Amino acid sequence: MKKHSMGVIIFGLAMVVPSLHALAGHWDHSDESQGWDGTLWANIPGEPSANQASMPLVFAECAIGSHQSPIVLNLTSNPIPIPINPKTQSPDNTPPAEPDRHANSLHVRYAPSISSTVGAAIASDKGNAYVFRNTGHAVQVSFSTGYPGRLLIGKDAYPLVQLHFHTPSEHIVVTDTSPAAKQYAGELHFVHQREDGRLAVLGIFLDDSQGATAENLILKKIIENTPLEHDAYNKSAAGLSLDPSKLIPVGNEQVLTYAGSLTTPPCSEGVSWYVLPEPLKVSPAQIQQLQAFFPTNSRIVQNTAARTVEIHKDLHVDHSQGHHIR
Ligand SMILES: [Zn+2]
Repeated sequence: MKKHSMGVIIFGLAMVVPSLHALAGHWDHSDESQGWDGTLWANIPGEPSANQASMPLVFAECAIGSHQSPIVLNLTSNPIPIPINPKTQSPDNTPPAEPDRHANSLHVRYAPSISSTVGAAIASDKGNAYVFRNTGHAVQVSFSTGYPGRLLIGKDAYPLVQLHFHTPSEHIVVTDTSPAAKQYAGELHFVHQREDGRLAVLGIFLDDSQGATAENLILKKIIENTPLEHDAYNKSAAGLSLDPSKLIPVGNEQVLTYAGSLTTPPCSEGVSWYVLPEPLKVSPAQIQQLQAFFPTNSRIVQNTAARTVEIHKDLHVDHSQGHHIR
């Protein structure tokens, strides 16, 4: 039995009031954006916004939830709570009890896939396939139900449903060595959903500080094949291989984990978040290309309330070239 060592950072002392909400059906970013346009993020209730008109009640959790995402990942040795947006959450809540989130090993096991042109029908495709998609608020790759890639939390399999991009990064990192809050140029989210609907999201920061040589070829393929029009699929790019594991920086074995939510309406809670501290290097031009789709599609950081961020040190990533990263 492997021993897990982990640093635990306490943000507060309030008592537990679990707040798990049913996560209905096969989640996809399209489901959460009904009736919404590209100004989605600016319209989350309770948040600073130029336009808070016509707020559907179904999104109330964005305003009243106590475990919302993203947050400041405060890794300093003597952290203090950072109430960035106290308007949105009451402070007297702690995370739902989720021993599995950090007690078990974490294994990223993705596989190469082949592009399809079936559009929305990808959700019921039993083969190993994916589609390029512009959701109207993010550049996204959506995988078929037959896609074998998954995140294993202990023995629990969370199939990869889709991946999408935000600019700038949603999560913000503070450490002892860089006490200034660090926001990266972008953030990639791998969204996984277990059979019972429970969600786990793997977040990867995008760092464009290394210049043009840092261009990522998988991101290049995604950007080049994503339709410019909103709420659209690429219906012509068939047969392109894509290996999502190549979007995970090599050499990680640590990951930050906390209990959070979707960062877009309906802001459902009960989402297990895993964020790699090590960013993926991309070129500045690639960030600009993502911004050309959506200049800013990140939600502002939410109150951490009494939540803890833990450092999970038992991450394994299968990279398809055959070697395992430990
Ligand atoms: Zn996201």
